[in-house]
Amino acid sequence: MTKPLFYRLAIIGPGLIGSSIARAARAQGAVREIVATARSPKTRARVAELGIADKVVDTNAQAVEDSDLVIVCVPVGACGAVAKEIGPHLKPGAIVSDVGSVKGSVVRDMGAHLPDSAHFVPAHPVAGTEHSGPDAGFAELFDNRWCILTPPEGTDPQAVDQLAAFWRLLGAKVETMSPEHHDIVLAITSHIPHLIAYNIVGTAADVEQVTQSEVIKFSAGGFRDFTRIAASDPVMWRDVFLNNKEAVLEMLGRFSEDLAALQRMIRWDDGEALEKLFTRTRAIRRSIIEAGQDTEAPDFGRPHGHDD
Ligand code: NAP
Repeated sequence: MTKPLFYRLAIIGPGLIGSSIARAARAQGAVREIVATARSPKTRARVAELGIADKVVDTNAQAVEDSDLVIVCVPVGACGAVAKEIGPHLKPGAIVSDVGSVKGSVVRDMGAHLPDSAHFVPAHPVAGTEHSGPDAGFAELFDNRWCILTPPEGTDPQAVDQLAAFWRLLGAKVETMSPEHHDIVLAITSHIPHLIAYNIVGTAADVEQVTQSEVIKFSAGGFRDFTRIAASDPVMWRDVFLNNKEAVLEMLGRFSEDLAALQRMIRWDDGEALEKLFTRTRAIRRSIIEAGQDTEAPDFGRPHGHDD
């Protein structure tokens, strides 16, 4: 068994990501003890029933007392309020982290409430599914996925190394970058694709000449893959767009320009330009497979896996 990296891990918000961290940390022997808490009594009861934490407590303050690593796993819009609540109760020297899909706003909102005696190392595991809640988590979620750390300037490098070691033990590959850079990269690789999926599924639902049963019946033509992404948690994604506004709008502007160019190619029968673009995009798909970030299998051989 591996020597635990931390004595006590606190998971605040054991939904899909939080419960996967708890499961993976236990499977790898990464920590000695896991304490979890959730906002609703229903989730707390379910987590206790699943047995994925050693202890389930009622408040965020109780969860962080005596914890060496605290991971906040709630929607990004709620991270600031949670940090405010836990700030005064943190153990000196504790590492506080999160898993939010946006980093600039989380650094701003959480950083303001955390004491200097704690080490704040924000993180984003780029792994997920369209499912939510503690039942949806699984220990292998982070296997071979990237986890991006965005420590604010002046963060103790030892704390960053410790958190990186934790994520590696959970199966992830770790990279460090600035929160601003993270938000630009993720805007194009994750946030815009989700927005497109939400939009195309919404459009299909509104097309009057096509019946709902036809949309479902013929979905294998490409639509089906979008519906999986568009089934992602509404609150989580609402918060992502509201908190990464600038980068999303910038990328959306570029996307709309390119879409207009495509529209023009079709209108003017420019088959050569269409083929050239589609050849270029096919090569990108090949590079992703070569980098081990997906396989030819339609669902990556894992339960509904996709990256967020
Ligand atoms: P989830 O399964 O819906 O779980 C969310 C957890 O946060 C639940 O325990 C929920 O408590 C709690 N929560 C929700 N709203 C809250 C609030 N206002 N105040 C306090 N607690 C609240 O969500 P998830 O998919 O694990 O996502 C959690 C975080 O991970 C988000 O920040 C998201 O950006 C990030 N992330 C998600 C993915 C993904 O694919 N889903 C991937 C990478 C990162 P109750 O159950 O009691 O309501």
